[in-house]
Amino acid sequence: MFYTFAKGSIFALFYYDSPPRFSAVMIDKDKKFKRYLITSALPYANGPLHIGQIAGAYLTADIYTRFLRLQGKDVVFVCGSDEHGAAITLRAKKDKTSPQEIVDTYHSIIEQSFKDFGIEFDIYHRTSSKLHHETAADFFTVLHESGKFEQKTKEQYYDDEHNQFLADRYIMGTCPKCDYDAAYGDQCEKCGSALSPRELINPKSTISGNVPVLKETTHWYLPMGDYEAWLKEWILDGHKGDWKSNVYGQCKSWIEGGLKSRAMTRDLDWGVKVPLEEAEGKVLYVWLDAPIGYISATKQWAKDHGKNWEDYWKSDDTKLVHFIGKDNIVFHAIIFPILLHAHGEYILPDNVPANEFLNIEYQKISTSRNWAVWLHEYLEDLPNKQDVLRYVLCSIAPETKDSEFTWKDFQARNNNELVAILGNFVNRTLVLTQKYYDGVVPNGTFEEWPEVTKRIEEIPEEIAASIEQYRFREGLAKGMELARLGNQFLAETEPWKLQKTDPEKVQSIMLLALQIAANISIAMNPFLPATCKKLAQMLNIELSNWEQAGTLNLIEAGQSIGEVSLLFEKLEDEVIDVQIEKLQKKAQVHS
Ligand SMILES: [Zn+2]
Repeated sequence: MFYTFAKGSIFALFYYDSPPRFSAVMIDKDKKFKRYLITSALPYANGPLHIGQIAGAYLTADIYTRFLRLQGKDVVFVCGSDEHGAAITLRAKKDKTSPQEIVDTYHSIIEQSFKDFGIEFDIYHRTSSKLHHETAADFFTVLHESGKFEQKTKEQYYDDEHNQFLADRYIMGTCPKCDYDAAYGDQCEKCGSALSPRELINPKSTISGNVPVLKETTHWYLPMGDYEAWLKEWILDGHKGDWKSNVYGQCKSWIEGGLKSRAMTRDLDWGVKVPLEEAEGKVLYVWLDAPIGYISATKQWAKDHGKNWEDYWKSDDTKLVHFIGKDNIVFHAIIFPILLHAHGEYILPDNVPANEFLNIEYQKISTSRNWAVWLHEYLEDLPNKQDVLRYVLCSIAPETKDSEFTWKDFQARNNNELVAILGNFVNRTLVLTQKYYDGVVPNGTFEEWPEVTKRIEEIPEEIAASIEQYRFREGLAKGMELARLGNQFLAETEPWKLQKTDPEKVQSIMLLALQIAANISIAMNPFLPATCKKLAQMLNIELSNWEQAGTLNLIEAGQSIGEVSLLFEKLEDEVIDVQIEKLQKKAQVHS
């Protein structure tokens, strides 16, 4: 809608103004897209969100989307609760309640914590909705009618005690690929391999713990092997050097290892009913149904906003990006694209930037052991500190390998970086502006500091390049460089000493410092939205466009600044100790 080629692309803009830091390929690649569809993995509505999930699939997607919105691009960011699958029914069984009760409870908890944390979806939908059931059933029907499935009757594991077939999370055993002894029937969460129950070594029913028996049942299979050549061309040739190496590497080893047929239906009573008469008592496989959730969410959003959902799913000039954690790579980079391709009307993801895992205090996050920092609890315990967590999680985002969250590191990053660098620079600048000029922005010139002004112009384009390449840690570090630059500039020019002898020069110094602060409010906005909003209010400026970043006239001489307060507060040891204790206590109680 708002997109224009000449002004819409930050790369095109800077490409002509400055030496070509970015390749022409990137400019051309981005230019062909008129709109963006961004998705984050649908969280299972069987528990609240923990910070490992946030660092994996949500924060980065939110930063990316905010960056696109700041450029005025036509972008829609969709997500929703995954309310089907064995994860839900097992939880209901454990809690002695109904699956519906489980999904209703956790859908609202999850939705609220995303909101409080500042993850700004255009829609947060749910797969139990009627629209989703219809969309998923229609998708299945198209594939079925065009002969894309194989109907097979095979022996499958069955729990005699509970009279139930055991698929996915209903069955556990040892992974044949990595020997992990708690792999599920559809996937090993340790090595990420997609599995089928018959591949598990020493399989056991997760409901009864019994060794399962074999019994015949009929299902509809996706013959994934038929798509190997196509996947080689599309991913291995088409996305080499473009997709992150962890994603590309996993895809390569799966494709080259040979892809087996996978059942797309299940013997369960909770889920999207298979739309075939002969499939009584069967539902769609949750990993067929869940990614279609992105489509139904887009449909609902389009309906609510008078848009055409097909523009976002069926038009080649839409860029589709799936943000996920590494355990979902096979589903988003292999299985869902096969389904989209087999259907024939849909675009494919341009990228699948998956993150690795986040550990907490040097241990793997475990929801069953309650070794986790829960997002809703964080937001309760440390109110108005959502940006501190956003900052820390982005700084340590597991972009290329697993990373560590520790409360001491959290405290250090808050105190030594947010407070001492960013907060300190902004506070010094605003307090001096009030003290010297009663809060009225002075006039001045910047010729004396060409190195400083050059960096102010360069840094936003560097941040843009990092975000475009899904390097969010790097982008955030570049944003902090603006604050470091500001601190260094004030330390070197020492306006507090010069004010008595050369007040005219101090005016120029303070004006330049204010321009740096104003630049921070745009350039760091995707990362720290609440902080940047507050900063813009304190500067009394309205900034809404990324193109303004890197310029030196964001705040005008003669205007007044707003009320000044601290952006960040120091976190004392006792606050952090409470969190460490809480983590350990809860884990102990549970085990
Ligand atoms: Zn494994």
